[in-house]
Amino acid sequence: MRNSKQKFVVAKALMELYTEHPTAAEVYRQARKMNPGISLGTVYRNLNNLVAAGEVKKITVPDAADRYDPQPEEHHHVACLSCGRVFDIDISFTKRLNRKIELETCVKLTNLQLIGTGYCQYCIKNKKGEICQN
Ligand SMILES: [Zn+2]
Ligand SMILES: [Zn+2]
Repeated sequence: MRNSKQKFVVAKALMELYTEHPTAAEVYRQARKMNPGISLGTVYRNLNNLVAAGEVKKITVPDAADRYDPQPEEHHHVACLSCGRVFDIDISFTKRLNRKIELETCVKLTNLQLIGTGYCQYCIKNKKGEICQN
């Protein structure tokens, strides 16, 4: 398989799992549906190339596998400690956050990645019978 084809399959698999902020293993499972011969190593290499090229964000979650996000614009995430789901924090809100940090610190930010951890509405619902009303 040609390199450009591999990159296309990995990028397409990531896009298909867009809302899930998938791990490399999840991207690999999705990529194999399109190309059964693709290897996990190839998926890792192409994901890292996409991150290096600024086309994909890598999200580092404490005590869990890295996750990948095809939305390269700066935004932040919260992760569920129970099921591992990762959710976006609204981008317009995070732009205001950057501005506030710059005003308070006088540091011109070139990168900021926040990761919040807690329990998502699905897990809270399962445990306590209640659901987030936001
Ligand atoms: Zn959860
Ligand atoms: Zn995201």
